[in-house]
Amino acid sequence: MNGCLVCKSAVKGDELFCKECSKFALVSVRTCRYCGAFVPVPVDKRCRSCKGKTLYFDLIYSSFIYCGAVESAVSMMKYGKIRHYAEVMGDHLAKDVPECITEGRTVIFPPMRFLDKFKRSFNQAEIMAEKIAVRHGLKIDPGLIRKVKRTEPQASLSYEKRQINLRDAFRLTKSAENGKFVLVDDVCTTFSTINTISKLLKDNGAQSVTAVTFARTSRYFS
Ligand SMILES: [Zn+2]
Ligand SMILES: [Zn+2]
Repeated sequence: MNGCLVCKSAVKGDELFCKECSKFALVSVRTCRYCGAFVPVPVDKRCRSCKGKTLYFDLIYSSFIYCGAVESAVSMMKYGKIRHYAEVMGDHLAKDVPECITEGRTVIFPPMRFLDKFKRSFNQAEIMAEKIAVRHGLKIDPGLIRKVKRTEPQASLSYEKRQINLRDAFRLTKSAENGKFVLVDDVCTTFSTINTISKLLKDNGAQSVTAVTFARTSRYFS
């Protein structure tokens, strides 16, 4: 029933892309063990993306690099407001993410402000989070985090500007004491959102936070 997310032609089983388009979909491999960014040469120290930055999440996993077919599909989902795309991406992500990242955790996601969600009609991170919760048999807590401040679209901002943009943007509605969380998002760019929410959780007593995203940007593929 589902066609290729980019060209709509037939796909095998539950694959996201047809044979041709999948040549332009890069699986996220050879990543920094700290921040999950692609690294050309694997080393056991901080990479160029996370060097000198304090990371508040414990592990991060992404299915794809954000470029080519994956970038096209995510753009269509967001700007074309195609809910179905978020669902099939979520199904893929839920199948793909290793159990060690999710096991025994409460699933959460970056919330959108009411008006922003209303405009798009869905929160793609929420849809992906639900898919992971169902497939991995986990509890989801959609109300734990609240977005309390309007933020500029992150895409055009530097890491430093993103940090300022996100300052005080989120609040917890209850205690995160001793909680173990898996934070799900569609795209991780500079990990500012994930890091901001992870800090908020850790500052409020969370024991550990892992992150899962459908796609991850890379300075090497953009
Ligand atoms: Zn295709
Ligand atoms: Zn790194």
